[in-house]
Amino acid sequence: PGSKLPQTGTTIFTVMSALAAELGAINLSQGFPDYDADPRLTALVNDAMQKGYNQYAPMAGWMPLREQIAQKVEKLYGAVYNPDTEITVTAGGTQAIFTAIAATINPNDEVIVFEPAYDCYAPAIKLMGGTVKSLELEPPDYRIAWDMVKRLISNRTRMIILNSPHNPTATILRQEDIDELAALVKNRDILILSDEVYEHLVFDGEVHQSMARYPELQERSFIVASFGKLFHTTGWKMGYCLAPAALMAEFRKIHQYIVFSVNTPMQVGITEYLKDESVYNTLPDFFQRKRDFFRDGLSQTRLELLPCSGSYFQSVSYKHITDIKDCDYAIQITREHGVASIPVSAFYSKGTDHKILRFCFAKKQETLEKAVERLMKL
Ligand code: GLN
Repeated sequence: PGSKLPQTGTTIFTVMSALAAELGAINLSQGFPDYDADPRLTALVNDAMQKGYNQYAPMAGWMPLREQIAQKVEKLYGAVYNPDTEITVTAGGTQAIFTAIAATINPNDEVIVFEPAYDCYAPAIKLMGGTVKSLELEPPDYRIAWDMVKRLISNRTRMIILNSPHNPTATILRQEDIDELAALVKNRDILILSDEVYEHLVFDGEVHQSMARYPELQERSFIVASFGKLFHTTGWKMGYCLAPAALMAEFRKIHQYIVFSVNTPMQVGITEYLKDESVYNTLPDFFQRKRDFFRDGLSQTRLELLPCSGSYFQSVSYKHITDIKDCDYAIQITREHGVASIPVSAFYSKGTDHKILRFCFAKKQETLEKAVERLMKL
């Protein structure tokens, strides 16, 4: 039988993390922390296991956790989601994204995707027989040209995928974008898939523009969030999806046959932990300090910094250093200087190469220091 995804190879995150491990390089490629989660959180999960929360959770998630999520979302963004019908706990953001796409995209439906784009969107769309309509954004600002988006819309357009704070470009949606988006989808039957897994990683006092803030957008949106990014526990593969009841009903039809439900003790532990708002309110400061420290360091290297308003990624341009392809340069730096990064061309369907690398700064200060020291030798 032929491949269902003939153009798809192994995800760049696996490739670069494996290379970093093989060479013993500092791994600033795949986005995950190199420090541990809060011991209070791991103790709460331990407790849950000890107390016997070790059987299937309800299909849509542990109800107290869904209630806790509803409270958080209402407090932060003013939107009221019904925990019973509008919130589902997922095995990470990626599963939520796949499920939302599988639940809504039919053969020949078109989905608008902004590139560079996180690499899990397009394969899911294609598997469902949909067509990816991509719009390339230009560095260093990667602003969305909404008149171009309008031109991409046809009567087959079923969905627009948004991602703010954005991976890999570290840009965020602003009020102007929201206004343009709202005008564009008004009176059109277009869904929004909003990947908001970095919602708490917004810097310089800026506001996270969640779709949940805007009723006219919220009513057509799947919003995806991640506990891995929130609690420095990417290995737990825990997240959730919010959507209005009719959309969520379709989402759950798929969710129940992909994972059925998500592991119970972590849901129980997270429920308790989430009651303390400071566990997420402190995140912008925590990561902004890392961002500033890393940017200061990188500014002493030959690499050129791109803006960073959100997420835990910092992109750099090296086009003034060499014109080697970004994939080759990322490998070369890993081999010769011991620092792994992600070549941003991996986020373009056409492999567009602007000579930009992405570094993850969710790392201990000493890791960032050591990485900068090595990158000084470039
Ligand atoms: N979100 C992470 C990143 O961008 C990767 C997660 C994964 O490897 N699937 O680095």
